[in-house]
Amino acid sequence: MKLVELAGSGERLSVLCIGAHSDDIEIGAGATILGWIARGVKLDAHWVVLSAYGPRAKEARASAEAFLADAADKTIELAEFKDGFFPYQGADIKTWFEGLKRRTSPDVILCHSRGDAHQDHREVAMLTWNTFRDHAILEYEIPKWDGDLSRPNVFIPASRALMERKTRLLYEYFGSQRSKDWFDAETFMGLARLRGAECRAPDGFAEAFHVRKIVVQ
Ligand SMILES: [Zn+2]
Repeated sequence: MKLVELAGSGERLSVLCIGAHSDDIEIGAGATILGWIARGVKLDAHWVVLSAYGPRAKEARASAEAFLADAADKTIELAEFKDGFFPYQGADIKTWFEGLKRRTSPDVILCHSRGDAHQDHREVAMLTWNTFRDHAILEYEIPKWDGDLSRPNVFIPASRALMERKTRLLYEYFGSQRSKDWFDAETFMGLARLRGAECRAPDGFAEAFHVRKIVVQ
């Protein structure tokens, strides 16, 4: 299958990363972000977490700084919407998204999937599509108790070393999540290994995304 490259080494790529909670972007697309930077893409990253307060705000900022350490440019924004209640704060979050639209115009958006079973994730996916009307949107997946993984259609291969780095960073920065029984290296590496098999990734691993539409030439 011909590889469609979003940006080559030395080229600029602006990306808007949107996560409901402090570890979502890293879990869904951490290796993709690290991989772009490692390949020499000049990454201009706008990173937003909608529910980051108290200790989770500290974790979110420190982790974003670590994942984006070698990005060409970065903006990190943390908001304080109440965890678990996004559908009931819809008007406020929609207003916040309208403000975000004026602050950034990315080449690519990484956000939650429309089919995600978590209500906050779903709300973010809906408002992303609602707000950004002429953008390439890659919806990442989050493994969890709900068992809502489905069939993604875009794959971004990652090396084993990148996947191990992503996992190490997740462990290092998200102490508050380590008590969750699914938050471990086997989950992250295992899902990436399956996605790697589905796209014949050279090193066996990949992150996968749902893409509703894309324009190629
Ligand atoms: Zn989440």
